[in-house]
Amino acid sequence: MPKTPCSLPRRRFLSVSATALLGFGAAGAAPAAARARRVPTPETTIDAGPLVMALTFDDGPSPQYTPQVLDVLRGHGVHATFFVCGDNVGLYPDVVRRIVAEGHVVGNHSWSHPHLSDLSAAEVRDQMQRTQDAVAKVGGRAPVLFRAPYGDFADASLAVCADLGLRPISWSVDPADWANPGSATIADRVVAGAATGAIVLHHDGTEGGDDNPEPGSGGDRSQTVTALKSYLPRLISAGYTFTTPDAHPPR
Ligand SMILES: [Zn+2]
Repeated sequence: MPKTPCSLPRRRFLSVSATALLGFGAAGAAPAAARARRVPTPETTIDAGPLVMALTFDDGPSPQYTPQVLDVLRGHGVHATFFVCGDNVGLYPDVVRRIVAEGHVVGNHSWSHPHLSDLSAAEVRDQMQRTQDAVAKVGGRAPVLFRAPYGDFADASLAVCADLGLRPISWSVDPADWANPGSATIADRVVAGAATGAIVLHHDGTEGGDDNPEPGSGGDRSQTVTALKSYLPRLISAGYTFTTPDAHPPR
């Protein structure tokens, strides 16, 4: 299952017709120019000042691991972004509410973690809108950040981002924690990738969706928790602080 660092082409503010991208018929539609959206490019870093980074946790919420991640973050006064799958939000609403209550940010990670490139534009919109609605219902507000499963944003999801006011967020540091390489390896990879503006990709979920546990991981995220406990004090000692992308406009 590919989880490679993002190497998507830069297409920020490419003006395209959302109507065309979404496959709507021309009949009865507003003129393309009137419906044009500024389609954003996935952001791989944040612009939040020297030594400021962002931690992100995908595929949850998990009733087992998300609370452990939250405990570690709270112990260090660090806020992070949790890109949740909509189908998990309904299963574990209390976990979502704790994420929000403790000052973290909930992002949209699709409903059931499909490869968006395999879906129709309408299906992509449904994956994203249903998750917006689920998070709003449980957490009180709809997400403003979106991350595509596998970093597979596809044109359709970027068009929906433009429509819904979502910022597509990728990453710059991928320690591949989903593959359980060992907590020390995960921690070392994060420390090695630490830099001003870095966005770190982690996984706190035990599944990517209702049909998609991450192969090879066994759904065990304990190494991520252990790694976090190890590297956070190291990075904080080195002068790093942590924020969430929503607090900083794109570069
Ligand atoms: Zn994911």
